[in-house]
Amino acid sequence: MKDDNFLRENNARHMWHPMGHPGAAMEHPPTVIMGAQGSTITDLDGATVVDAVGGLWCVNLGYSNDKVKEAVAKQLYDLPYYSAFAGTTNPAAIEASYLVREFFAEDGIERVFFTSGGSDSVDTCLRLARQYHRLRGEPNRTKFMSLKKGYHGTHFGGASVNGNNRFRINYEPLLAGCFHLTAPYTYRNPYDETDPARLAQLIAQAAEDEIQFQGPGSIAAFIMEPILGAGGVLVPHETFMPLMRDICDRHGILMIADEVICGFGRTGDWSGSRHWGVKPDLMSAAKGITSGYFPVGAALISGKVAEVFEKSDEAGAIYHGYTYSAHPVGAAAVIACLEETLRLDTKTNAAARGTQLYEGCLKLAEKYDVIGDVRGGHGLMTGLEVVSDPAAKTPMGNDAMQRLHKATYEAGTMVRVGGNNIMMSPPLVITEAEVDSILDALDAGFAAI
Ligand code: PMP
Repeated sequence: MKDDNFLRENNARHMWHPMGHPGAAMEHPPTVIMGAQGSTITDLDGATVVDAVGGLWCVNLGYSNDKVKEAVAKQLYDLPYYSAFAGTTNPAAIEASYLVREFFAEDGIERVFFTSGGSDSVDTCLRLARQYHRLRGEPNRTKFMSLKKGYHGTHFGGASVNGNNRFRINYEPLLAGCFHLTAPYTYRNPYDETDPARLAQLIAQAAEDEIQFQGPGSIAAFIMEPILGAGGVLVPHETFMPLMRDICDRHGILMIADEVICGFGRTGDWSGSRHWGVKPDLMSAAKGITSGYFPVGAALISGKVAEVFEKSDEAGAIYHGYTYSAHPVGAAAVIACLEETLRLDTKTNAAARGTQLYEGCLKLAEKYDVIGDVRGGHGLMTGLEVVSDPAAKTPMGNDAMQRLHKATYEAGTMVRVGGNNIMMSPPLVITEAEVDSILDALDAGFAAI
C-alpha cells in the first residue's frame, strides 16, 4: 500500500468517480476512507465518524462481520470462480439460491437469478417481464410504467424507468415506451394534496387513465420501490402499493418491486413489499444480500412467472446473464451474510433504531424550521428535506447543503446529501448510542447553517 502522501497527490487524478463531476473532484478531492469498524468509518486524516449512510444503503451487517470475511476468504481458496452459464454451477451458488428463496418465500418468490448488483437485477426483471409476455402469446406487451422520483439504477433499462431526470437527460434517447406516474410524495405534488391516502387514490386514478391512453395490452410491467430511497426516502401511503397491485392485475401488467434498498431487513421486515401486504411478480434485490462485502444482486421470480418459463418450449431459454452471475465468492458472501442476518435478527434492531432515528429527526424539525419534511418511520431509512424558506418550500441551495454535510461530518456523522435531501441508512446493527450521536451531529450541522 502506498503512503499517505501518494494517496493525497493522486487522489482524483486518475479515477473518475461515479455520480461525480470529474473536474470538481480534482478541485475538491474526495474523502479517503481508510478503514471501518462496526458502524463507523475512519478517513485519511484520522477522523472516525458514524456511517449513517451504511456505505451506500448496503452495509447492513456493519463493517466487522468476521463470519462473512472468513467465508469470502475460504471460498477464494476453494473455488475463486467458475461460470454458472447453463451447464455448470457451484456449491455456494446452490446454497445461496436456497437461502435467498427462503427469505422471500412469504412474498411468493420461488426462483432466484443472480446478478452483480442492483442495476443488473432491475434490467434482468425488465427483460424477464417482456419475455414472460412473449411466452404467453402477448409479444406487444413491451412498455414499462414507473414512478417519478423512483431510482432503478443506471443501465439503459433502469435509467429508462428512473424518475429523476438528472440520471436520464445526458443519456437520452432511452428505451422507448417507458412512462412515469406522479410519485407518492406528499410534501410536494402537482395536486397540492397533503393527505397521503387521497394522494394514493389520485395517482392510482391517473395510472388507470394513462394505461388506457397507452393501451393496456402494450404494457409489460410496472416497477416501484416499496419505499423510494434515492428519491429522498418517500414513504407511500399503505394503500398505494395494494392499489397499484390491483390495477396491474386487472390489466395483465406484471408488478416488479425494486427491493434493492428495502430488501433484507432495512425497512424493519425482510421485504418492503411485505409492509404493504403486496406480493410482487418479480423483485430486484442487491445491497443487503451481501452487506457490500462482495458485489452481488438477484432478480427474484414468483411462482406465477416461473411456471410460464419452466413449462415453455425453447423460447423460454434465458439468453441473458452475467459473467459473474452466481459467482462462487459472491455466493459464499450471500450465504454467510444471510445466516448472520438471521442470527442477529437485524430487522428487529432496524425497526427499533429506525423509530429512534425518525423520532429524533422529528424533534430536530421542531428546532430548525429549515427542516421542511421528515420522512421514514419504517426501519433504518430516514430522509430530511431541507428548505431555505419553509412557507414557500424553497429547496435549500447546494452550497448550504454542502456546508451542512461538512458540519455534520465534523461533528461525527457521515450522511448522504442528494439535492436538498439528507438521507440516512446506517448499518442495521447500529447501537442506540450511535443513533444518538447521529442526531447530535445533525443538530450541530443544522446549527452551523
Ligand atoms: N434500485 C434501487 C432501488 C437502488 O437504490 C439502486 C442503487 N442505489 C439500484 C437499483 C442500482 O443498484 P446498483 O448501484 O447496485 O447497480
